Amino acid sequence: MKVFKFGGASVNSADAVRNMARIVQNHLESETLVVVVSAMGKTTNLLENLVPGTAANEDKAALRRQLEEYHLSIAKSLIPNEEGIVDKVRGLLSRLDGTIASLTPSEEQYNFNYDQVVSFGELISTTIIAHYLNHLGINTLWQDARQLIRTDDHYREGRVKWVETQQAIQNSEFIIHNSYSVVITQGFIGGTSSSFTTTLGREGSDYSASILAYCLGAKSVTIWKDVPGFLNADPKFFSDTVKISQIPYNEAIELAYYGASVIHPKTVKPIQNKGIPLYIKSFITPENEGSSIGEYKTIVPETPLYIFANNQILLSILPRDYSFIAEDNLQVIFGILNDLGIKVNLMQNSALSFSICINNNPQLVRPLIDRLKSMFRVRYNENLQLITIRYYTQEVIDRIVAGRPILLEQRSRSTEQLVVPATSMI
Ligand code: ASP
Ligand code: MG
Repeated sequence: MKVFKFGGASVNSADAVRNMARIVQNHLESETLVVVVSAMGKTTNLLENLVPGTAANEDKAALRRQLEEYHLSIAKSLIPNEEGIVDKVRGLLSRLDGTIASLTPSEEQYNFNYDQVVSFGELISTTIIAHYLNHLGINTLWQDARQLIRTDDHYREGRVKWVETQQAIQNSEFIIHNSYSVVITQGFIGGTSSSFTTTLGREGSDYSASILAYCLGAKSVTIWKDVPGFLNADPKFFSDTVKISQIPYNEAIELAYYGASVIHPKTVKPIQNKGIPLYIKSFITPENEGSSIGEYKTIVPETPLYIFANNQILLSILPRDYSFIAEDNLQVIFGILNDLGIKVNLMQNSALSFSICINNNPQLVRPLIDRLKSMFRVRYNENLQLITIRYYTQEVIDRIVAGRPILLEQRSRSTEQLVVPATSMI
């Protein structure tokens, strides 16, 4: 069995869905093809504004209308003159309205509310696509991922219960009946033992594909993207990119951890454990080879790799008393970071100060600074960029820094990390 994953950009219009369906059609085999799909386009962002308890910048009623018009126009364009698909989309939208009305808009409930609402993006996209594939004559099963991917009740970051998930997948209709050409299921979402919906974290559909592949012992996972493969830098920030055709599993894990946005950081581990290859291919040029992540020794071709994390803030934390930055103070600082769920992207300490570079999310950074200030002096610099270069050379570093002052630097044998004031394009 093979697993395919199509993200939001690959299904963001009727034409995109037609293209996606062509790719599926060209890869049909005797075994069922498992296809994991995200919400269409930017639907997840839109739905975030409809979560009870969110102070949406935009008019909620207008957003709700936009959601309906967008999906109905795609559905109608895919299958004109057929009400079945329109009824299904309308049915889901009215379930969404019912869900929103039933939720309590409170801060404690926010993460729970979020998952119950935002998950509709994937439910709607997969419903349209499964219906369309059947309309094309491909024997397709729509499968509710919440019945397969079992998680705990850690809303917005559901943790997978592997044993239950494995069992649920083995007992699922498509395994037992084994007669479908394609199974369409949702990325990003899972279900708790009390039948509530959870999500796996933003951009989590890659992880869904990997969980399914692991539990199915799949032959491979293919992630279809709008880039030709795994590039050595994000083309949004870098004009001259190189496609990496082979990437060792561990290298991919490191790169995703440093912030390479091409795959979700949790994706690689499960399939690495089973030696399942992961392909990244372009849905625009599906005949081209793309990249492959697997049991390799080095990246091919060997070239520097760049990861840019924007909107960073660098905090310097200094004791107010005469103490040093030692284990006791560090324990307090990490306690606060852990309480707030803040991930540290880079850290460095001296006798008198401890510096951390983190994403500048005001909802988290403000409470962090407030709490730190009760015990420490805190200085900060905003509007920074964290640059990670794997397989650096001095020449490469100089070119990237481009004369900017370096606020923090860390170098290991293979990796250089730098915090510098932001710039647009290199
Ligand atoms: N639709 C979700 C998101 O936009 C999950 C995904 O696309 O992977 O975050
Ligand atoms: Mg997405």
